[in-house]
Amino acid sequence: MGTTAAARGPQPDDTGPTRHPTARRDGRPEPWRRTAAAAGLLAGGVPTPTVFEAMTALAARHGAVNLGQGSPDEDGPAWIRDRAAEAIRTGADRSNQYAPGLGLPVLRQAVSAHQRRHYGLELDPDRQVLVTTGATEGIAATLLALVGPGDEVVAFEPYYDSYAAMTALAGARFTAVPLRPPHFLPDPEALERALGPDTRMVVLNTPHNPTGVVPDPALLGRLVEVCVRHGVLILSDEVYEHLVYDGRHHPVSAVPGAWERTLTVSSAGKSFSLTGWKVGWVTGPAELVAAVRAVKQFLTYSTGPAYQSAIAEALSDGDVFLAGQRDRLRAARDRLLSGLGAAGLDPVVPAAGYFTVTDLSAVGLDDAAAATEALAARAGVVGIPVSALCTPGAGTGAHRLRSWMRWAFCKPMDTIEDAVRRLAALPTVSAD
Ligand code: PMP
Ligand code: GLN
Repeated sequence: MGTTAAARGPQPDDTGPTRHPTARRDGRPEPWRRTAAAAGLLAGGVPTPTVFEAMTALAARHGAVNLGQGSPDEDGPAWIRDRAAEAIRTGADRSNQYAPGLGLPVLRQAVSAHQRRHYGLELDPDRQVLVTTGATEGIAATLLALVGPGDEVVAFEPYYDSYAAMTALAGARFTAVPLRPPHFLPDPEALERALGPDTRMVVLNTPHNPTGVVPDPALLGRLVEVCVRHGVLILSDEVYEHLVYDGRHHPVSAVPGAWERTLTVSSAGKSFSLTGWKVGWVTGPAELVAAVRAVKQFLTYSTGPAYQSAIAEALSDGDVFLAGQRDRLRAARDRLLSGLGAAGLDPVVPAAGYFTVTDLSAVGLDDAAAATEALAARAGVVGIPVSALCTPGAGTGAHRLRSWMRWAFCKPMDTIEDAVRRLAALPTVSAD
């Protein structure tokens, strides 16, 4: 059985050999090393790819069904793809040249109209919307712009891996507040206990990756109250906003008290099954958005205009697709949940998103990361060990949740059926 570097946590030699060509004379870790170590991606001083890449490669090696990376196997609507293809082919509106740093006006207007239509939020498209290269760049630019050495960033754990990695790159300290089974609901009192004088920012993620939890407005209100009391900024990651199967999405910035301190990131990738396009946006008060822009313009400067104009149309005209997509994903979720149940597991029912999580100790597997290779080889199915979405090390979620596995259901039904058949072999994997 193999152990993924991502899930193993820091090793004794994680500071690396002193003769590494990038090593500093004073021995302090270089920025790349801090970044990789924060995500548990330094094995023997050598940086390894993210768990998503590692698990996708593992599935390919074994011909296993890949329920790891949240990457749909079916592309989003042809009419959206046609718009981008046409823009690239004709070069209309300078579609193949640098877009403005803030993003195309047509997309910023579409984001603003989208926020009004779905949530009743009024955004000035020229000052309160910034287009980014995926939500990932929005997260990176926000953290790099607003936190630095001496600051602390707090997020609930497990979490999307970039929060801790980019906090480390920014030179700030990252503190994780546990989400606990069986419900994985964020606990405002635990958040309150975690916040200290150095805390600059709290990261909230709703709908949540990996658990699919969607806190109701009352719970969001209590979380925001804590942030207001401590005078901290909020980064709200809402990339799964359109993939809520039970209930509805509630933007954090609409919660009383939140607006003036909240930057929200979202993206088109999940909503429209176009994860490769990397079109995202950051919204919030003008001064905060301007601060993020100050950094973003030196990361990518701007994002491909052909993709931006196509997504502008998707945001305006895509509601019918989104409704169908929710139905398809709800059906995929339900089928996977019943398959996991039949395999002897008790999956968390996710209200939203792409994933469910299960405790593999029910089938005798106490270390999900250590089991990935055997699951791929013998059961023919791959997930993401939840420990890889936690701060590495003893006493963290990586230890507490070491028997938990995340499974993606953003797949066609025949892939889910195939996975369900293979999952039936799960209990036998531990027997060897
Ligand atoms: N946030 C969360 C919670 C995610 O799961 C992901 C994964 N796609 C992202 C952000 C990144 O989004 P994008 O692909 O638009 O960069
Ligand atoms: N957000 C996706 C996931 O959680 C993957 C993103 C990535 O590969 N960086 O699976």
